[in-house]
Amino acid sequence: MSDTIFSKIIKREIPADILYEDDDVLAFRDVSPKAPTHFLVIPKLAIPTINDIQPDQAALIGKLVLTAQQLAKQEGIAEQGYRLVMNCNEDGGQTVFHIHLHVLGGRGLRWPPG
Ligand code: 5GP
Repeated sequence: MSDTIFSKIIKREIPADILYEDDDVLAFRDVSPKAPTHFLVIPKLAIPTINDIQPDQAALIGKLVLTAQQLAKQEGIAEQGYRLVMNCNEDGGQTVFHIHLHVLGGRGLRWPPG
């Protein structure tokens, strides 16, 4: 499978504003923010889409959410609220085929989305 832009960020081949890293996950600010606070939490393992997640990766997927939870507190958006989004394929609006959890906050977000 070819490298995505996120694999290059993991390998530090391209720069990113990194908020958190451990052996399993990386979090960094979105280069084109859709809200005052917008960052992405990704697994270091390159899983292309939600459709490719395997049952034995459940803990890793849960860790994305728990990392988002911690960083939302750190970023000061936890109490007011925020949104977690993971897009899948064309109709979901996915453009980078390495799964990622968007964390959006800092303003009121419309629901339902367009
Ligand atoms: P998707 O549309 O796949 O759900 O989200 C991909 C996200 O990655 C978009 O919000 C886009 O702005 C962000 N993105 C794309 N390329 C880069 C990059 O090189 N650096 C960073 N930090 N974010 C990126």
